[in-house]
Amino acid sequence: MNRPPGPDAFGSGVAQEQFLTVLSREEAVRRFEAALLPRPVGIEQVALSAALGRVLGEEITAPIDVPRFDRSSVDGFAVRAADLVHAGEAAPAKLRLNGEVIACGVAPRIPVASGTATPIATGGPIPRGADAVVMIEHTEPCEDGSIEVRRAATPGQFVGFAGSDIARAETVLRVGAVIGSREIGMLAACGVAEISVFRRPRVGVLSTGDELVQPGEALRPAAIYDSNGPIVCAAIAENGGEPVFYGAVPDEEAALAAALRKTHAECDMVILSGGTSKGAGDLSHRLVGRLGAPGIVAHGVALKPGKPLCLAVCESKPVVILPGFPTSAMFTFHDVVAPVLRRLAGQPPRAETVVPATVPVRIQSELGRTEFVMASLVRREDGLAAYPTGKASGAITAFAQADGFLTVEALADSLAAGTETEVTLFTPHLRLPDLVIMGSHDIGLDAVVSRLAASGHAVRLLAIGSLGGLAAARRGECDIAPIHLLDPKTGVYNAPFLTPGLELAEGWWRMQGVVFRNGDARFEGRSAEAAVRAALADGDCLMVNRNQGAGTRILIDELLKGAKPDGYWNQPRSHNAVAAAVAQARADWGLAIEPAAKAYGLGFLPLAEEHYDFAVATERRARPAVAAFLNALRDPEVQDVLRSLGFTPAASR
Ligand code: AMP
Ligand code: MG
Repeated sequence: MNRPPGPDAFGSGVAQEQFLTVLSREEAVRRFEAALLPRPVGIEQVALSAALGRVLGEEITAPIDVPRFDRSSVDGFAVRAADLVHAGEAAPAKLRLNGEVIACGVAPRIPVASGTATPIATGGPIPRGADAVVMIEHTEPCEDGSIEVRRAATPGQFVGFAGSDIARAETVLRVGAVIGSREIGMLAACGVAEISVFRRPRVGVLSTGDELVQPGEALRPAAIYDSNGPIVCAAIAENGGEPVFYGAVPDEEAALAAALRKTHAECDMVILSGGTSKGAGDLSHRLVGRLGAPGIVAHGVALKPGKPLCLAVCESKPVVILPGFPTSAMFTFHDVVAPVLRRLAGQPPRAETVVPATVPVRIQSELGRTEFVMASLVRREDGLAAYPTGKASGAITAFAQADGFLTVEALADSLAAGTETEVTLFTPHLRLPDLVIMGSHDIGLDAVVSRLAASGHAVRLLAIGSLGGLAAARRGECDIAPIHLLDPKTGVYNAPFLTPGLELAEGWWRMQGVVFRNGDARFEGRSAEAAVRAALADGDCLMVNRNQGAGTRILIDELLKGAKPDGYWNQPRSHNAVAAAVAQARADWGLAIEPAAKAYGLGFLPLAEEHYDFAVATERRARPAVAAFLNALRDPEVQDVLRSLGFTPAASR
C-alpha cells in the first residue's frame, strides 16, 4: 500500500535505511520524483528537416495566412457571379475573355470587369473584380474567342479564401506537440524553417560486470555478451533521450568510480545496470551512494522481476541502477525509469495499448510484489488467450516472443486458469500470427517454419513441451502441437496420446544416444548400453540427467535401472543444455539427440530413435497456413535440410 508522503524522506542518513527496506512500487516512484522534480532539461533550435520525433518547446503561431490569397480550386474561368445569375442550358451567358491566363504562381494584372472572364488554373490567385470560378467543363468556347456559360454561379464558388486553411496569428502547434510528418507539413506551409524543441536529455549508460563482452568481440570462457547496454540505449532513444554508451566497466572499485563520475559530469541522467544486489562484488549502489546529495532514495522495490532496482538523485540528476538480468532491467526501465525520462525530454506519457485476454493456465506469483509476466497472445473462440512466455528473469528471448505483459498485483499469489486479465502490448498494434505452433521445440522445426515464413505466413512458436502443446491443441489455442511422447506400455510414439478431434502428421525421427567428449576411453567405441554400464562402474564419472516428463528421461531411467549415480539430480530441460554440460566438462555423459551432439562437437553412441510428430486439430487442417505447414513437411528441399541436420524425415522412410 502507499504510505502517506512523509515530512522529508531524504534527510541525511535516510539513504542508509533504504538499503534495508523494500518499498512498494508506488512509494519508490513517489520518493524518486519528490527528490528529482522531473522537468524538461532545456530547449534548442532545430531545422524543420531534423525535427521529426522531437517535441515542440514553444507555441507556434502562423506568421502568414494559408493560403495567402484567394485562389481557384478548379481549372476554369474567374468571373463575376452577378453576370451568371440567369445563365442556364436554355439561356447561355456569353463572356469576353481577358487577355491573360492565370497559371499557378502568376500574379493577375487585369481586373475582371462585368461581362468578362479570365482563364485560371487550380491554385491561381483570383483577380481583382472576380468573385467566383466556373469549371471549364461547364463552358463552351465560341468562335470569336469568348465563352458561353450554361450554369448559374454563386459568389465564392470554387474559391479558396485567404486564411481559410491556417489564419495568420492562429496557434498552429502547442508546446508538447510531437513532430510527425503532418506537423512538418503544416509548419512548412507557414514557411517555418526552424523550431524550438525540448533538448533530448543526454543519458549516460554504463554496464557493469567482469563477465561482460561487447557484441562482435570474442567470448572468453564464462563470459557473456553485454545485452543491457544495447537494449537500454535503444529504449532511451525510444523514449526521447539521447543515449551515450560508456561501455562495460569491470567490477573494480576505482574503475567504476571513475567511470561513474565522468558519466555523471557529462550527462543529464545516468543509467547503470548490474551490481545492485547486495552480493560481495556488487559495487554499483555503494558508489552511487557517494556520488552526490541526496543520493539513494530507493533500493529494493517490490517488483518482479526487478526487486534490486536502485533509484538515486545526485546533484539534481537522476542516477538509476537497473538489475543485471536483461528482462528485469527492461521491465524496471519501462515501468519506473521511462516515465521520468520522458518528462526530462518533454515527451508526453507513453501511449499504451491494453487488450483483454484470458489466462489459459494457472500463473503462480509471489505475494507482496507487483509481478510482470510476459505473455504471448493467441486467438481462441471466445477472444484472446495470454500464455506466459518464460518467467526466468534471465530469459532474453521471452521478450522477443511476447506480445506484451500482464500484471499480477502485489496482493495476489496467483492467477487461476480462466482469469480474465489485461495485456499491455509492447507495440501499439497487435499482429496475431497465421499459424500457432505450441509444444515441444526442435531445431528441425525451424527449417519447416522458415519455409512458411518465406511464403509470407506469420508463425508463432511457443515451446511449452509436448504435454502442454497437446492440452493447448485440445483447448483450440494452437493449430499444431509438435510432440515426442513415448507410450511405455506399447512402445509406440505419439499416436496413443491423441484424443478425438486431433490427428497425427508424421514429422521426423531423431536418434537419441549417449553424448560424451571425443577421446574419452570410457565411451569411445562402445555400444550405448555398454558405455553406460562402464560409466556406472566408475565412481568419478559424472552424468547429466533430463527433467521428469521428457521422453529422453524415460530412456535414461531404463538404462540406469534404478541407479542414481553422481549428477543424477542435475536435470536440465533441453538436449542443448545436456550437450553444453558435457562439452564444458561439467558432466561426462548424458542422453541427447544426435543434432545436439553434432552442434557441440561431441561423440555420440546411438541408442533409440525418437519420433517427433505433429498433432493437428482436424477442423483446422484446411486452413491455408495449416495446409502450407503440412505441405512444407513433405517439401523435398525441407527434407534435405532436415537430413543435413541429422534427422530422418518420416515421409522418406
Ligand atoms: P548482477 O546484478 O551484476 O549480479 O547481475 C545479475 C545477472 O545479470 C548476472 O547473471 C549477470 O551476468 C547478468 N548481467 C549483468 N549485466 C548484464 C548485461 N549488461 N548484459 C547481460 N547480462 C547481464
Ligand atoms: Mg554483476
